[in-house]
Amino acid sequence: MNEIRLNGLTLALDEKEESLKEKTARALGTAAADIASCRVVKKALDARRSKPPRFVYALHVSLQPNVILPDVLPEGLQIQKWEGGPDGCSVVRETKETTSCVSAQPESASLLHDGGQFVKASKGEMQPVVVVGSGPAGLFAAYRLSLAAIPVILLERGRPIEQRAADVRLFWEQGILHPESNVLFGEGGAGTFSDGKLTSRSKNPAAGWVKKVLVEMGAPKGILTDAKPHIGTDRLRLVILRLRQKLIELGCDIRFENRVTDIVIRDGKIAAVAINDRQEIETDCVILAIGQSADDTYRLLQERGVSMEPKPFAMGLRVEHPQDLINSIQYGRWAGHPQLPPAEYFVTAAVEEQNRSVYTFCMCPGGQVIGCSAFPGRVITNGMSNAARSGAFANSAVVVNVRTDDFARAEGPLSGLAFRDEWERKAFEAGGGRYEAPAQKLVEFMEGKFSGSVGQTSFMPGAKAARLSDVLPDFVAGALREGLRRINQKMPGFISPAAHLIGVETRTSAPVRMRRGRDGQSENVRGLYPCGEGSGYAGGIISSALDGLKAAQSAAAAIIGRP
Ligand SMILES: Cc1cc2nc3c(=O)[nH]c(=O)nc-3n(C[C@H](O)[C@H](O)[C@H](O)COP(=O)(O)OP(=O)(O)OC[C@H]3O[C@@H](n4cnc5c(N)ncnc54)[C@H](O)[C@@H]3O)c2cc1C
Repeated sequence: MNEIRLNGLTLALDEKEESLKEKTARALGTAAADIASCRVVKKALDARRSKPPRFVYALHVSLQPNVILPDVLPEGLQIQKWEGGPDGCSVVRETKETTSCVSAQPESASLLHDGGQFVKASKGEMQPVVVVGSGPAGLFAAYRLSLAAIPVILLERGRPIEQRAADVRLFWEQGILHPESNVLFGEGGAGTFSDGKLTSRSKNPAAGWVKKVLVEMGAPKGILTDAKPHIGTDRLRLVILRLRQKLIELGCDIRFENRVTDIVIRDGKIAAVAINDRQEIETDCVILAIGQSADDTYRLLQERGVSMEPKPFAMGLRVEHPQDLINSIQYGRWAGHPQLPPAEYFVTAAVEEQNRSVYTFCMCPGGQVIGCSAFPGRVITNGMSNAARSGAFANSAVVVNVRTDDFARAEGPLSGLAFRDEWERKAFEAGGGRYEAPAQKLVEFMEGKFSGSVGQTSFMPGAKAARLSDVLPDFVAGALREGLRRINQKMPGFISPAAHLIGVETRTSAPVRMRRGRDGQSENVRGLYPCGEGSGYAGGIISSALDGLKAAQSAAAAIIGRP
């Protein structure tokens, strides 16, 4: 069989995917019967306003052996040699020179993979690996180690998803905050109540393996082929539940409401962790996947001398528009076509005169702006949406880069935490002290006016009219105004009387980095593997999961003693 990858085949909005085979045959100048199979490996929407929107495909095509490929192809099409496995692997790695399909095994699979099987540890007297945190990084680290039959104890300070969902609802409906079970803490980690966007700039082929695992746990199959995959909060909960069951089947010991309150370091090596100030677990290997919001745990690590440094991050506000307005800006006269999904955007604006960049981040079509407080007396915003993305509003963070010299103070490596804290507290006060968020009409923010009223927003638990320049550092407010002006030039109509700003958005990425060596271990504590978003080396669901996977592989290699 002659196998190729065909890039760039397009379908108009009204054309059905069933016609792909026939269109492929036509493009290749052959008969449909010559095409044994034709499978989608990537699907993207090309909606550039100036042209009718269309779907663009990359296909895995199997041709009968006698078929001769044409020397010249219709414009926009490209043939590449298919280098994937016979199982129809779904992971496509693209480099400048080549495009190849790699089998769905994690990167550095050779560390644990031997002759098609995971190398399993012989249990003997092996101490358990303690994984701290059940976000994407901790879950994938625990899963990878459990597959290799390495004993794992997974510690999570928050509650299981069922109770957590009820705690979060109480917060959104009544403003009652559970400090250990909220949008940031609990099973599944910070992205559990999210849009479940799985986009990542990483070219790591193991991203395909992560997505494949998510599909096995109940995520929609489309995430394997969509150029901009997403799962949605409602579906993500099911995925996390199934992953928990799978981990338990594999022997992973999962303990909720188990907060790591101390770490014991002897002779520069990790020796034990303390839980809830009561119990101690001896271990020589800790995978630290605590996320970016565990200020108390960061402080504990600082007290114990773990090497850390401040890291730049970004802060700003959430902007919310009616979804119909974003559809018409992005799709023009094609807005409302039943085949078009709720429109998304990602826009950047360099504000050179202020030496800042402004960009949109974590856009949630058809979603909601949500309160994400995990700490009494602070307001933090973010966004989420369900799988259908069918809500009436579209929201996105719009943020400004924050450099370390903007916040470097006496707190040393953790000064970014104090900086975030300051603005989150101001937002809490401006919102009336009941976890409502300060909000302002976008046009008023732009003009420096304040009418004292806001229209309808989706924010839970509620929005209160406030001057948003009071809850932002001057450099952020100034750069945002200019950046939004430029965004409006790229997306005319963005600055609309129907749009609101809601604040504050501070949790874009960690303001701290835990310094680590090439082997993934802390620079100065052996056996401690900081990973995921909290380590400062990852951000987002996929990249945090990949970082957890990498930590697990390094730890497993050290434990099993194989290069
Ligand atoms: C509302 C929201 C929406 C988001 N939407 C998206 C999106 O659509 N796509 C995307 O890619 N990213 C999104 N993100 C970001 C994404 O969720 C994070 O990048 C990702 O969850 C980081 O994974 P992690 O495992 O490193 O950390 P986390 O997910 O933060 O998990 C860390 C876990 O560690 C636990 N923990 C902390 N300290 C301790 C301790 N001392 N002892 C025991 N347990 C502890 C916490 O309770 C938490 O469950 C969103 C984030 C939020 C808050």
